[in-house]
Amino acid sequence: MTAQTPFPSASLLGYPRIGRRRELKKAVEAYWAGRIDAAALDAAAKEIQLATAKRLVELGLDEAAAVPGTFSYYDQVLDATAHLGAVPARFGQLLDADGQLSLDGYFTLARGTKDQQPLEMTKWFDTNYHYLVPEIGPETTFSLSSRRIVEEFEFALAHGIETRPYIVGPVTYLLLSKASDDAPEGFAPLSRLEDVLPVYVQLLGELAAAGAHWVQLDEPALVVDQDTPADEIQAAVARAYEVLAAAPVRPQILVSTPYGSLDGQLGALTASNIDALHLDVFKGAVPSEAALAGLGEKTLVAGVVDGHNIWRNDLAASAARLDALKAAVGTLAVSTSTSTQHVPHDVAEETKLSEQLKSWLAFADQKAVEVTTLAAYLADPASAQAAIDEASAIIASRAVAEGVRREEVRARLAALTDADFNRSEYTIREAAQEAALQLPPLPTTTIGSFPQTSEIRSARARNTKGELSDEQYEQLMKDEIKRVVELQEELGYDVLVHGEPERNDMVQYFAENLEGFDVTVHGWVQSYGSRCTRPSILWGDVTRSAPITVAWAEYAQSLTEKPMKGMLTGPVTILAWSFVRDDQPLGDTANQVGLALRDEIADLEAAGIKVIQVDEPALRELLPLRRADQPAYLKWSVNSFRLATAGAGDATQIHTHLCYSEFGVIIDAIDGLDADVTSIEAARSRMEVVHDLESHGFGRGVGPGVYDIHSPRVPGEAEVTELLRTAVEHVPARQLWVNPDCGLKTRGYLETEESLRNLVTATREVRAELVQA
Ligand code: GLN
Ligand code: ZN
Repeated sequence: MTAQTPFPSASLLGYPRIGRRRELKKAVEAYWAGRIDAAALDAAAKEIQLATAKRLVELGLDEAAAVPGTFSYYDQVLDATAHLGAVPARFGQLLDADGQLSLDGYFTLARGTKDQQPLEMTKWFDTNYHYLVPEIGPETTFSLSSRRIVEEFEFALAHGIETRPYIVGPVTYLLLSKASDDAPEGFAPLSRLEDVLPVYVQLLGELAAAGAHWVQLDEPALVVDQDTPADEIQAAVARAYEVLAAAPVRPQILVSTPYGSLDGQLGALTASNIDALHLDVFKGAVPSEAALAGLGEKTLVAGVVDGHNIWRNDLAASAARLDALKAAVGTLAVSTSTSTQHVPHDVAEETKLSEQLKSWLAFADQKAVEVTTLAAYLADPASAQAAIDEASAIIASRAVAEGVRREEVRARLAALTDADFNRSEYTIREAAQEAALQLPPLPTTTIGSFPQTSEIRSARARNTKGELSDEQYEQLMKDEIKRVVELQEELGYDVLVHGEPERNDMVQYFAENLEGFDVTVHGWVQSYGSRCTRPSILWGDVTRSAPITVAWAEYAQSLTEKPMKGMLTGPVTILAWSFVRDDQPLGDTANQVGLALRDEIADLEAAGIKVIQVDEPALRELLPLRRADQPAYLKWSVNSFRLATAGAGDATQIHTHLCYSEFGVIIDAIDGLDADVTSIEAARSRMEVVHDLESHGFGRGVGPGVYDIHSPRVPGEAEVTELLRTAVEHVPARQLWVNPDCGLKTRGYLETEESLRNLVTATREVRAELVQA
């Protein structure tokens, strides 16, 4: 082992890597498009790495290993795949002659090729970040196939900054992996633990040789209830860190466990010979003194500052938590609960937010200062007193600031009764809707958005800049809506949409039009790869000061005799894709949004809209990681949707849309939404979902998607016909709808039109078969 260097008293678990102005996104996309070469991309990446390291040192993370080496070209799990050389066989020979995965090979895994699907993407714990799922089988070979982590360390060191290299740990890596297609039934990637450990050992050796004193192995999977039995995981943790700690040459090892409590997995880590253990004591619980006793000489890195949300830390509360820990452990250091990759860079960049709101916030840079303040507190409590008092004063003033509490909203919520959450029996609604809508069997519809052309986006940009008046902008959007309606008429759709051209984003649009929200200018966070989102800030009680979508829906309905769907985003999705206030239960906040949507639905009905869709694509996303916490979540999330929709009349058809296909887990919740029609993703999974629907006995309308809109590929008529035939075999035809998997916003018109046409012809064919049968 290299010479001992204490773990830095203050550090961040990770830092955004997209660059303060999304420089990485721009460089990577330019490289993909062939506009810049590999050298230019490399230069852009190095510039971001160096700027980050320098910035964090400047903010006070100036001890060795305090700056996390968490840069990534695309994704941290893909980085681990690259270093382990775990390239799925279906990609053929991606490693070059000396066994290395080039950056192009790396991007191939991320983005696929003409004939190969990319690695599957899925959500990283309970965040809105998505990682690429490794595919591991009995035949997967592992060898150190990238030196990027080492090179990045060397690069920063050459500029005088010793970083702390980061890699996803072996147990989490395998728990996040899926069995490759050719693996036998029941194969568990975790069974390959012994084979990945030597590669980690080799990597540790290289890092030590490069001069690293600390390395961070990230093990968040240990805070989640996994399908693998807990004792098996415990044994894997014990074995993994026995082997890694025994590496002949290695840096000191920090194991990080963000996103919740370790609970049953704590013992395996305290008993191991690692050198430091990070615990999330912001979201997770502070373990008992007895449980911590096992740490012995190890440093406890206390994640007391929230890395996942944007609120200023309550330094007094954190100090108290640190005091409790200090009594129980030998060496204590301060950090964030999670990587700050989930929050934007710097509050100071925001030019449009009020000074008051800004004072309540802490983005990544502010969190760096918070951890150094708390580390100073540990060394000398008096030195931090002024900062602690300031934070307490600001938090106290936030509680009474205008708009944080609106008594009329609270009174309305307090007065709600069960009746406000319940509609009539479905059979009554079904009959009323049948009479009102007169739809054919297998009605066709789309999910809401039509392609957002560059004309639409540039009109919005020009309107924002003031180059296009509001009237001109509105007229352009109306022209677009007219085109979209005419297209659907021509194609023969039964329930039409207006296409959502006026919406920049399905959540931000509502945030901009409701009280209680603000939107940032530079608050980008990485969603996946080069994709970033700019979540809105939900800081106050939510109300709707005026109708939001009604004029657009009314205009669209005036263009057609067919029913036009009103289109809203549901409360859970609005919460999931925003930064949400931390001063009251999420369920209360969701109900406030629910009430605002309820008013919008009433106004849509009054304007003659007969079908209203409330999208909840993020319902699955906020599901708590611990099973014990899930029922309470499902209860409040479902209730907020019911509150939004239950005011609708019997004859108004309420639709909802969900964006994923693993239904098993939350099918009861979906049922609980009590929507008249639910559209879901199903094309990629070849209609697997109809089995869940069948076994569950789902009784209302359902539209399993028959067109995968995530790629430009056009589904052929025969293919759609097949999918529909499968659907009618398992779900009564009278319940079935025909629609794509999701909105068409990211697609081009060419493929969209052809695909939508095929949907209608296929539907007509299957309708004819139904008549014959
Ligand atoms: N109505 C939205 C759209 O079509 C739904 C998007 C989503 O599910 N993410 O764009
Ligand atoms: Zn969707």
